[in-house]
Amino acid sequence: MNIECLTVGPFQSGCYIVWGPERHALVIDPGADAQAILACLDAHGLDTACYLLTHGHIDHVSALAEVSAKHPAPYAIHALDLKWAFGPLNRLPPYYSDTRRPAGAFRTLADGQTWTDGGMSYAVIGTPGHSPGGVCFYFPADRVLFSGDTLFQGTVGRTDLAGGDGRMLTQSLRKLAQLPPETRIFPGHGPETRLAEEFRINPFLKRP
Ligand SMILES: [Zn+2]
Ligand SMILES: [Zn+2]
Repeated sequence: MNIECLTVGPFQSGCYIVWGPERHALVIDPGADAQAILACLDAHGLDTACYLLTHGHIDHVSALAEVSAKHPAPYAIHALDLKWAFGPLNRLPPYYSDTRRPAGAFRTLADGQTWTDGGMSYAVIGTPGHSPGGVCFYFPADRVLFSGDTLFQGTVGRTDLAGGDGRMLTQSLRKLAQLPPETRIFPGHGPETRLAEEFRINPFLKRP
């Protein structure tokens, strides 16, 4: 599995482009800088199998309409975040004002699902707390987790935004703590880390 990490937009969001031998990519959290995302797809000769959204916040979805216009593919998001992700409530001027709904089909994600796209299988782990429909994507064959704004290097996502819930975030972190300690973690902001390292440095993550 190949992983390209792009840091996009004013909030330095992590957008990840993931692909296997089939060269059909998963684009995770196309948050901004559509041209950079398209250039990365082109540079590797990829088309898009699916757009995966860890949650609905504008800094993770704002380039989706523009990127998917060039590389049409379904987008996948939890129903609780789909409700507001492409509406005026999600605008954040002056940083983000484009909340256009993408033209393509969508797929609703739920905890416990397993999907296969572009020859890669992954599990959807429901991780509400930072947002009501937050999810993480776990690729068991490679032991890789895309953790969105649930878990960062050394810390966790804030729970004081609309729909945030600290108690739910604690439960979500307990689920992530069950993954193999060697799991590589690619968060929604900041550098890559590993679960074993987070047990050591992250005060919010408890070993099961
Ligand atoms: Zn967020
Ligand atoms: Zn974010």
